[in-house]
Amino acid sequence: DGKAAAQSIKDALKLDVAQLASNGREVPHLVAILVGTNGASETYVAAKVKACEEVGFKSTLIRFEESITAFRLLETIRELNGDPDVDGILVQLPLPAHISSEEIINAIDPSKDVDGFHPSTVGRLVLGQPTFIPATPYGIQLLLAHYKIETAGKHAVVIGRSNIVGRPMSILLSAAGPQGNATVTICHSHTKNLAEVCRSADIIIAALGRPGFVTADMVKEGAVVIDVGITRVDDPTRKRGYRIAGDVAFDEVSAKAGFITPVPGGVGPMTIAALLKNTFHACALKHYD
Ligand code: NAP
Repeated sequence: DGKAAAQSIKDALKLDVAQLASNGREVPHLVAILVGTNGASETYVAAKVKACEEVGFKSTLIRFEESITAFRLLETIRELNGDPDVDGILVQLPLPAHISSEEIINAIDPSKDVDGFHPSTVGRLVLGQPTFIPATPYGIQLLLAHYKIETAGKHAVVIGRSNIVGRPMSILLSAAGPQGNATVTICHSHTKNLAEVCRSADIIIAALGRPGFVTADMVKEGAVVIDVGITRVDDPTRKRGYRIAGDVAFDEVSAKAGFITPVPGGVGPMTIAALLKNTFHACALKHYD
């Protein structure tokens, strides 16, 4: 239950923020940048801003038209990098095709990179040095910890190798330390015998964006199944005309799995809780300087 686990993280953060405020310190400030009018991006950013409000963080949403130039966006990021009142900077992806996400992400000051996408953040993650962990894998780590799920010595299969989910997840699971020490197989669209690989998994992390891809025949009895997928699927019976589907066929897999996350209500809320934790951390680090 990612919703409940996220709530307990938010409750703890709320107390931490109240303590900062009572000590006369500034509360964490997250700035989110949204370019264009992509429906899913709007929803994600709105949820992040709402979560900030819930725990007592300051948040600012900067919106730009789809036609904004990379130069103008970079200028904004440089201003935010230099603003001592800003602790975390988040650029909601994807960006329009004429803007290089790489160039924009690389411009964010790593000390404010609360999404954990900057190359130096990723480098530190790979080396096992303290850093911001990308929000979705971090949220999954927190969820595993919440349910006291042992990963050491287990075989974890991660489906998907993206820079924001699959790859950092595989690094964390294979790293030494809590929610790590697993033997990890990372799969992608070229993987042969994927079903067979999955059947040997104690833990499956499905992050490929293909609704219902992981079926019961691919899952070992008692396995832990974490569903990262979020895909909008047309559904005329719903008021908004679509439903959100995960990468796992929940009904059949839940009959076999030891633990399973639902979609929605699993990894999604944990991703937001992890982003809040990173932002709090960024603010706390600033105070230690
Ligand atoms: P992505 O960048 O599109 O990457 C998808 C990965 O899945 C790629 O590595 C791709 O392999 C692999 N893949 C695709 N089809 C496959 C197949 N048939 N068999 C094996 N591997 C396959 O996606 P992403 O950004 O990582 O996101 C994945 C999903 O998670 C999406 O549904 C996204 O919306 C969701 N998501 C959820 C959250 C959350 O908070 N819950 C956060 C982020 C993303 P190749 O590399 O070979 O192409």
